[in-house]
Amino acid sequence: MHQFSYKNGTLHCERVALNQIADQYGTPTFVYSRNTILNDLDEFQHAFEGVDVHIAYAVKACSNGAILRLMAQRGCGFDIVSGGELWRVIRAGGNPALCTYAGVAKTEPEIRYALSSGIYCFICESENELREIDRIAAEIGTVAPVAVRVNPNVDAHTHKYITTGTNENKFGVDISRIESLYAEIAAQMHHLRIRGIQMHIGSQLTDVTPFVMAVEKIAPIAARLKETYGIEFWSIGGGIGIIYDGCLASGEKKWWDEHPQQITIQSYAQALIPLLKPLGLRILLEPGRRLVGNAAVMLTRCVYEKKGESKLFKMIDAGMNDIIRPALYEGYHEIWPVRQHRDDLVVADIVGPICESGDFQAQNRSIPDVKPGELLAEMSAGAYGFSMSSTYNSRPLAAEVMVDGDKVTLIRRRQTLEQLVEDEILPID
Ligand SMILES: *Cc1c(COP(=O)(O)O)cnc(C)c1O
Repeated sequence: MHQFSYKNGTLHCERVALNQIADQYGTPTFVYSRNTILNDLDEFQHAFEGVDVHIAYAVKACSNGAILRLMAQRGCGFDIVSGGELWRVIRAGGNPALCTYAGVAKTEPEIRYALSSGIYCFICESENELREIDRIAAEIGTVAPVAVRVNPNVDAHTHKYITTGTNENKFGVDISRIESLYAEIAAQMHHLRIRGIQMHIGSQLTDVTPFVMAVEKIAPIAARLKETYGIEFWSIGGGIGIIYDGCLASGEKKWWDEHPQQITIQSYAQALIPLLKPLGLRILLEPGRRLVGNAAVMLTRCVYEKKGESKLFKMIDAGMNDIIRPALYEGYHEIWPVRQHRDDLVVADIVGPICESGDFQAQNRSIPDVKPGELLAEMSAGAYGFSMSSTYNSRPLAAEVMVDGDKVTLIRRRQTLEQLVEDEILPID
């Protein structure tokens, strides 16, 4: 599991005390544990005994170049959803030939860029997109590798904003239509090469059942596509959930003992291996959250407290611009004080400086009675944390650091006010 724990009354990332990082780099700062990422990646890469599995890390979960480079060095490919993400991967030393490119609205410049970079495969989400890629490839005089995203119509039982695999969602092509679409590609789109099939049913799934249902539904189709068009891969997407609500007080409780149903990399692999192995296809996994989610905290400082008529508020120096998950889809993050408290729990809202009522990180939360000036760690902040941040309220982007044992490396400088406005043009009057 993750490597954030209390030592001598102070919360550490690996062997580094978090207050030391705050002293050096200020707050808010995202703190990544390199060894947490590497351990989980290793587990993914070894869990699927007997299946030809490849990891395509979902860049959008956390796209810092240092993280991408780490993944690339360990042999990962990348699942990208924009030309910008492809550019980041290449800059960080990732191999475009290991990139799958998903997304429902790829533009012509993005398609041209991906083609000229030699990506592994376009993951196409509609017939019109396929026709557009075919047209562009013809113009360039090349052949584009494609797979179609099939929508298995399985309910992932996750938040409505992060469910992607039902008929109600904008993603993919309906399961009933998928094989006739492959036939159309083969018959009509001569600048496309059918390379695989893909699905991705949602994010933060906490149970393996929807994955099993989706794989069971699509497996016969994948087998027929292999037979008919010689596809070489099936990407089964990402979506494995993490525990956000774990172990406040001690940091040492055994999560899995208390969450026996919770999905693990092992239980996911064990459930899917028997279904995937007989296909003889290359299987791509696109984990994002599960690889980086628990591997970072956002370090923030309490600046004020306020006792309202009915509520106690603790104001912190990080806002919804730094982590938007609670505001956007009711995301839950544990909040741990950096200095360990023993007994004084209070119920409070932990709120940021942004002028929006939605700017909270926790509501009605039992937390230690932290006082202004104290440091807090917002846990499980590695995925969809910094990558979703903005400068709303003219707040510069946070810093990011990576910890490896007792070594701290700055992987993103805190944005300056100058940088905040450097692309703005003041009219001359
Ligand atoms: C977002 C996304 C992922 C990663 O999802 P996680 O829940 O972070 O694992 C994988 N594949 C596609 C196509 C995505 O859009």
